[in-house]
Amino acid sequence: MRPYTFGAARSVGEALRQARDGSAYLAGGTTLVDLMKMEVVTPAHVVDITAVPLRGIRADAKGLSIGAMERMADVAEHDLVTGPYPMLAEALRQSASPQIRNMATIGGNLLQRTRCGYFRDPATPCNKRSPGTGCPAVGGHNRSHAILGTSDACVATHPSDLAVALTALDARVSLRGPDGERTLRLADFYRLPGSTPHLENELRPGELITGVTVPALTWARRSTYVKVRDRQSYEFALCSAAIAVDVTGGVIREARVAAGGVGTRPWRLPAVEQALKGSQMRLEAFEAAVAHAADGARPLAHNAFKPALLRRTIVRALAHLAG
Ligand code: FAD
Repeated sequence: MRPYTFGAARSVGEALRQARDGSAYLAGGTTLVDLMKMEVVTPAHVVDITAVPLRGIRADAKGLSIGAMERMADVAEHDLVTGPYPMLAEALRQSASPQIRNMATIGGNLLQRTRCGYFRDPATPCNKRSPGTGCPAVGGHNRSHAILGTSDACVATHPSDLAVALTALDARVSLRGPDGERTLRLADFYRLPGSTPHLENELRPGELITGVTVPALTWARRSTYVKVRDRQSYEFALCSAAIAVDVTGGVIREARVAAGGVGTRPWRLPAVEQALKGSQMRLEAFEAAVAHAADGARPLAHNAFKPALLRRTIVRALAHLAG
């Protein structure tokens, strides 16, 4: 680990004042400390924000708001989450391990870095870690990599389960920086890699995530998160689907569909949502609606199974919601 200076903040103002070029905020530390030990990230200064009071899980007529420093475990079990937004609770419960969920925060989860093995190994080139060095994953070990939103410069998946469910729910992320406050749709917060994969999101230097808000969606009570992975716990998604449906008389009036493990960012599927509208809650209708889910996908040598897996994961989630 490289030497760095360390400071602790007790308020948002203190945190912002301590941030400087090349500094990093420390929340639960479950990603940051690993990456610092491996020298994948090398901040010159670390600002501990664990005492910054960005807590609270609240709901009103407009929706749900969650403070950035809430722990994943607490959010996953909160009554305002489990009943009204099951897909959020399920996405969190299927993330990482109980020990990590007890440490890790919502803000840190949204800013975790990709699990691409080349990114996490400073001995190999990686455009995301060292711009301009190349992407060995394109022609290398790419079984777990993305098929949607990729570029020749980067095929790394976005790893967060929570972000997939939040994207399906049209959540917004609240940010506070030296220039004040702003909110962005989470879908607009994450960037596609293009030729600049090291720029992963719209966060400005020194800016803090203060929380997320989920617009009220009464029919999100009928939602689920299905995650397909190589082992049943402590593993990232090969493919996942976050789905909510509004059903009346056995017919789908509206649907929300987002996928994980397949995209370079959480991947919303508006064409599938549209195709589900007016469909019966039946298997044949689900299979028809997902026919084009992977349109535009660019499978790699070792992940050509992902388009079919994506379609099946969505169908499985819909079948689960159909009971
Ligand atoms: P930290 O490690 O403290 O920070 C992460 C990054 O976010 C850092 O860059 C930090 O500077 C920045 N940051 C943190 N908070 C803020 C803030 N409020 N504002 C601005 N910047 C901030 N995740 C999944 O979704 N699914 C999984 O299946 C999964 N499996 C895992 C398995 C293992 C073995 C491990 C180690 C992790 C796994 N994770 C998984 C990732 C885990 O969820 C993240 O490590 C965790 O959510 C990060 O939260 P943290 O509070 O510890 O963040």
